[in-house]
Amino acid sequence: ERSLEMVVGLLGIMKAGGAYVPLDPSYPAQRLAYMLEDSAPVALLTQAAVRGDLPAPKLPVVVLELQDAASMIAREAAHNPDTSALGLTASNLAYVIYTSGSTGLPKGVMVEHASVVNFLSAMARAPGVSVQDVLLAVTTLSFDIAGLELYLPLMSGARLVLASRQSAVDAEALSQLIEQHGVTIMQATPATWRLLLDHGWQGRADLRVLCGGEALPTELSARLAARGGTLWNLYGPTETTIWSTMARVNGLHTTAIASIGRPIANTQIYILDPRGQPVPIGVRGEIHIGGVGVARGYLNRAELSAQRFVPDEFSAEQTARMYQTGDLGRWLPDGNIEYLGRNDFQVKIRGFRIELGEIEARLTACDGVRQAVVVAREDSSGDKRLVAYLTVQQGVELSAAQLRSQLSTVLPEYMVPSGFVTLQTLPLTPNGKLDRKALPAPDHSSVVSAEYQAPVGEVETAIARIWQTVLGLPRIGRHDNFFELGGHSLLAVQLLSRLREQFGVEVALREVFAQPTLQGVAQAVLRASRSAQPALLPVDRSEP
Ligand code: AMP
Repeated sequence: ERSLEMVVGLLGIMKAGGAYVPLDPSYPAQRLAYMLEDSAPVALLTQAAVRGDLPAPKLPVVVLELQDAASMIAREAAHNPDTSALGLTASNLAYVIYTSGSTGLPKGVMVEHASVVNFLSAMARAPGVSVQDVLLAVTTLSFDIAGLELYLPLMSGARLVLASRQSAVDAEALSQLIEQHGVTIMQATPATWRLLLDHGWQGRADLRVLCGGEALPTELSARLAARGGTLWNLYGPTETTIWSTMARVNGLHTTAIASIGRPIANTQIYILDPRGQPVPIGVRGEIHIGGVGVARGYLNRAELSAQRFVPDEFSAEQTARMYQTGDLGRWLPDGNIEYLGRNDFQVKIRGFRIELGEIEARLTACDGVRQAVVVAREDSSGDKRLVAYLTVQQGVELSAAQLRSQLSTVLPEYMVPSGFVTLQTLPLTPNGKLDRKALPAPDHSSVVSAEYQAPVGEVETAIARIWQTVLGLPRIGRHDNFFELGGHSLLAVQLLSRLREQFGVEVALREVFAQPTLQGVAQAVLRASRSAQPALLPVDRSEP
């Protein structure tokens, strides 16, 4: 959670010479337990409100609260340890951030202070930051780009405004925050910018719009350029520290997506052919990134690190390394880079980086599943959705609901497929390889398992109307599943804020994930109203 306490916590960890590992309390306990075991931290820093969502490791737990934070700042302000006397250098670790791993477990990227400082100094020059600026931070701490939001203002004397987790995915709340605080810099993924625009956000002439994490399509850049002050497309993997290239975009580009621009300071981009030779201008190759931003490697994964972090033979420095991104691109004649997609099965969905192999490994481990393939398909609205294709063991029948609930115990919500299609056999190409192109589009029945039954009672009927608006669907049955119908976490947050408006109750996101049917959500509303103010709720005549 982004909060003042957590910012104080991060600064405290760094001041003490430690490195931090962000844990998202919304992740399944098993995934968090793995991250704790893998990174073996010396202490767990948390807050009372989320303490219960974290596994209980056998290590010292520090519960940070605002009061302590304030007194800690007061106490520590005058106390600046002599870093060199402590033996700390710029090559100490700043953080370890976990990202999806293709073999079934997430992997921790180790980033050093020198990389972060270089990155921040580059950003301070362009897009630029000054004491007059106000930056609105919307990104969760477990995404490395939060580093720009938290440290850039603090380094330069600009003002930092923290959006709560709820507001960060709520277009209305975000527009309000932008206006109320006179925000001049905001960084977000295309999904969040689209959310704002789709909700009628009017923009702000002096707002620097920083967009990154996923390709910036022309349609979006044109709309953004018309609403903000200046627009920047930022590109880079976690492995090379937040962003490695950037482009100022005017929204008038003729290509389908905006150019990712040129490398930032002390960063080299090499576009190489399969033999590791630079390709000529205009020819597609794999993007390799060298320079100060290159991470130390993956924690406890020497082999994988050696595969992806390779010697930089173009550098004069003996020990220089470069990161092999898996991204494809080509040089444009003007020195900018055009991004051309991936050469593997890593995808981005609503800004989240996902290795399809990680989901496949988890699916194959589910009871009764023989083989599994997961693809990211674009639906008619241009939204990408994960669809799983499986073959099952003889005599076994698996429902989408069963698979979804098993996967939810190990994968974060954004990695759980929305459709499950069972096939007799997986389609193969003539030379015996999986033929991804021949996988059938999921039909309604493979996505939605429920037969239609009308909502019962006032509460269900009222919630059905909310779903219709949020999901853009004409009819909702009481057994329909929010996520099967195309719902995802951003939409679920909209659902929660509408429930709050209409019923005056707080339903937790967790409850929607646990019981995602219309009936289930109605029950959550009833539970919440019982423990709050029953008088606010219309009388419920539905069966439980
Ligand atoms: P992450 O480590 O989560 O920052 O994800 C990094 C990956 O996201 C990159 O390797 C790209 O595939 C993709 N990516 C990030 N920014 C952009 C961008 N501006 N345009 C296209 N792809 C991007």
